[in-house]
Amino acid sequence: MGIAENLILFKNNIPPLVSLIAVSKTKPNENILEAYKANQKDFGENYVQELVTKAQTLPKDIRWHFIGHLQRNKVNEIIPFVYLIHGVDSERLLREINKEAQKINKQVSVLLQVFIAKEETKFGLDEQELKSILEKKSEFPLVKICGLMGMASNTQDNIQIKKEFQFLSSLFEKNKKLNPEFEILSMGMSSDYKLAIECGSNMIRIGSAIFGARVPGNSI
Ligand SMILES: *Cc1c(COP(=O)(O)O)cnc(C)c1O
Repeated sequence: MGIAENLILFKNNIPPLVSLIAVSKTKPNENILEAYKANQKDFGENYVQELVTKAQTLPKDIRWHFIGHLQRNKVNEIIPFVYLIHGVDSERLLREINKEAQKINKQVSVLLQVFIAKEETKFGLDEQELKSILEKKSEFPLVKICGLMGMASNTQDNIQIKKEFQFLSSLFEKNKKLNPEFEILSMGMSSDYKLAIECGSNMIRIGSAIFGARVPGNSI
């Protein structure tokens, strides 16, 4: 099946209030345009240079989501092009985003990434760090913290995955009461989006189920 067909199938099978981010990392512009013509406007990328190059060459009404691990020294490059940064996992990074946003006077929307998996390899804040950052949010006036993001363990164990998503979802609900700008809970990828939606996700990040498998290391 083609990319457009995959997208339409996907959209017909998720609740209307769940946003779909098409994760286009490593995929060429032609693939993105195919999805764009099928009315997809939100795309996710993991690498700063790749996002910037694509943003400069593709239609200007595409909303670019940065879903990878952002290094502080790359913040200035990405700020002008990014619509939402999903993976903010430290106060230092938040501070840097605010500083660079101030330079070009742009309000930047971010999600705070929470560590929910069993693996040590995934990034994210713990509950205490999340609390401490949210208490200081007035120090970052140009950053809008719109919600939370998380990645579940890479496992076949659905009970484990569900536990992790439920934990993140409860943190989201709790913090929403204190932070009126909290709207987005970004969780779920090709392998686990159904569970994520069951647990309250309202933004899923789907790559291979739309664009097909990625060739490892094929980043531009
Ligand atoms: C690559 C990636 C995705 C998409 O993964 P698929 O399994 O291809 O759907 C989602 N979220 C993040 C953070 C990613 O790095």
